[in-house]
Amino acid sequence: MKIKEIIEIIKQDLNTTKRAIKLIQTFTPNYFLHSFLFAFDLAAAQYIGCFLAAEITDEVTGGKDIKKMAIMVVVMVISELVLVLLSKYSWRRIRVNEIITQQWEEIYLNNKSFSMDYKNMEDPEIRAKRQAIVDNRNLGGLSYLVSRLSHIMRNIINIVFSIIMVADMFFNHSDKPLTGIVAFADSWVASLLLGVVIIISCVVSFISVQYVESKDYIINKKISATKKIYSYYLSDYLDDSKACKDVHIFNQQELIVNASDKIHSKWLSLIKDKNELTKKYGEKTQVIDYIILGLIYSFVALKAIAGTFGIGSFVKYATCIQKLMWNTNDFSLMLSRMHSLNKYIEDFFEYVDTPTEMHYGTIPTEKRMDNKYDIEFHNVSFKYPNTENYAIKNLNLKFKVGDRIAVVGMNGSGKTTMIKLLCRLYDPTEGYITLNGIDIQKYDYEDYLKLFSVVFQDFKLFSFSVGENVAASVDYDEEKVWSSLEKAGMLERVKAMPKGLKTPVYKDFEEDGVEISGGEAQKLAIARALYKDAAFVILDEPTASLDPIAEHEIYSRFNDMVKDKTAVYISHRLSSCRFCDRILVFDNGQLIQDGSHENLLENPDGKYSELWNAQAQYYAENKV
Ligand code: ADP
Repeated sequence: MKIKEIIEIIKQDLNTTKRAIKLIQTFTPNYFLHSFLFAFDLAAAQYIGCFLAAEITDEVTGGKDIKKMAIMVVVMVISELVLVLLSKYSWRRIRVNEIITQQWEEIYLNNKSFSMDYKNMEDPEIRAKRQAIVDNRNLGGLSYLVSRLSHIMRNIINIVFSIIMVADMFFNHSDKPLTGIVAFADSWVASLLLGVVIIISCVVSFISVQYVESKDYIINKKISATKKIYSYYLSDYLDDSKACKDVHIFNQQELIVNASDKIHSKWLSLIKDKNELTKKYGEKTQVIDYIILGLIYSFVALKAIAGTFGIGSFVKYATCIQKLMWNTNDFSLMLSRMHSLNKYIEDFFEYVDTPTEMHYGTIPTEKRMDNKYDIEFHNVSFKYPNTENYAIKNLNLKFKVGDRIAVVGMNGSGKTTMIKLLCRLYDPTEGYITLNGIDIQKYDYEDYLKLFSVVFQDFKLFSFSVGENVAASVDYDEEKVWSSLEKAGMLERVKAMPKGLKTPVYKDFEEDGVEISGGEAQKLAIARALYKDAAFVILDEPTASLDPIAEHEIYSRFNDMVKDKTAVYISHRLSSCRFCDRILVFDNGQLIQDGSHENLLENPDGKYSELWNAQAQYYAENKV
């Protein structure tokens, strides 16, 4: 890697760290302060202890001045006690702040997810990013940054204190006449040599740690990807009761065991690579470190023999040099780990910075009691993000107020996509859509969404109460909820529930929750659509699992319920939509026919006739 690139990475890391610190400060203003105080107090307590212990030992073995010793003991005890108590106080604050930061981080992330454009929530890349953030947050998340920085701070304080404590050793020389190796150890040449050895050893260990850690980072990434696949086999195939059915019926056990075995051996080989790396570099540098440490100890011991300093100072210098080397090593390790942590933080910021393009419009929608809203598609084409093919091509279409429209077509012909564009879950790639003549992108997004009630095929109810599910809100108008339930055919069922509207749906969190059938869930979803009382109501095949007759019944009944509103029905069963005044036939992303059932059947070569005849024949055969 070129120096320029390294500088660029460091710059980027610093910017990310700075931004993360600012954000953490808004969550918990004193978190960093306490972390740094904790680091300082601990290091200061250790070095004051080490310094005074050396002084006392030298006094015991040298001057034997009891008064001086007593003062030093008192100073040592008081200062260490104060620093330890302060560090304990900071530690408690750190623990509290850590939890608060984790909670805020989660809230911050979730708020972003909730306000994100739908297209981004469906985007696999953005979903994967969120998943990676959630996975990593469990390992520490943003609060990890604080403890890392505090650790680095502790390393720096230790390095500075160690240098201060050992500096005088290099300049102090014995005034006794010396010979041989003792004389050499006490010479300035030896001091210089030793200083150079210590500096070189620190630099070498710094570089080697950076190298090993960068390799280790790549292996760890591969390990966590492998682990993810392995746990996917376990949780999705074995722990999920729904999947168990398929596993048993299709006898897929061997298939799964084989696949998980393969991934397991890959995992083991990565662990082996990791061990090899540690063996190759970690152990080698450790041997060198201990040789250097031996040299340093001998040097300091010889200087003590020369009478340059006493036993206490000997212990102090030896301890501090060891600390200097250990902290340099650790400092380098922490710096490189900061880089991998920054990758997590970068992902975090990239995710929260995802622009919300749907929210730029400001015009409020007109509130009309007569629901006179006209929507028109003007030559609209649309491609899903990161795809090549058009899901909708050159669509020109007008919805008039009070229309009953059926949308039919083969699977994948673009029916749901048209609805997504209508409801602004996506914006057109080309062309535009207008509401009462104004481009829908100019309207306030939330205001515009209020015009639509959709029951999707894959609608979702939540483990809230029946009332909350129907009203999609904590506060609701009970009478309106009951009336919607009645229209949807769920009145008696909910009345019979133990807590009425307050009965929790599903038993996920509440023991007195009720499990409901697929058909009942559909009715609740329809009640939710009715409660919203929007100008446009859309049923996007929510009845796909029902038989055609039941579907036809629901559609016709729904048609009576929605009165003066504009209703759009999507179904691949043509018989369900016969009652509609207008039928739109989609094929391959294009609107190819538009007319009433009778009109469309007049064209025997049209797609509608083809679909109708195919389905009519099927029902006729069954009837027979
Ligand atoms: P229909 O509702 O008529 O069954 P859709 O509107 O769901 O059809 O799909 C139209 C086309 O768009 C299909 O080719 C489908 O594969 C594609 N498609 C649908 N949803 C997505 C998506 N989220 N990302 C990419 N392609 C999609």
